Amino acid sequence: MGGTPFHVWIQGGRRTDGEFTFDAERIVRDFSQFSQKQLDLFGEFPEQAYHFLTLILPVPYYHGVEHRNSTVLVLGPNDEGEGLYQDLLGVSSHELFHAWNIIRIRPTELLPYDFTKENYFSTCFVAEG
Ligand SMILES: [Zn+2]
Repeated sequence: MGGTPFHVWIQGGRRTDGEFTFDAERIVRDFSQFSQKQLDLFGEFPEQAYHFLTLILPVPYYHGVEHRNSTVLVLGPNDEGEGLYQDLLGVSSHELFHAWNIIRIRPTELLPYDFTKENYFSTCFVAEG
């Protein structure tokens, strides 16, 4: 996409009946759509590649955390079906947006970083990520 390869890695993506939890073609189509929308919004991608590192668990779980050129996602349960897929799309799109928002575009009040206490903004912004 725009010369940047995007990779979706999934571990544990089989339901208890042995079928794959997700449809690969659907993933490529849907991930391409939200990724392209974000690239169109920002004009370029700031990394050489991006990786969606996904772990699907047999138990209920919902977690995502952003990194500069990747995100780690943990979701479950793998038998949930469409709801799990919608969670995958939602959290994946959210974490990709962080490639720009907060990782590279952030309120100046955050700097210099001090994670030992809360950081209040006089500009009334709220930051997550
Ligand atoms: Zn976030």
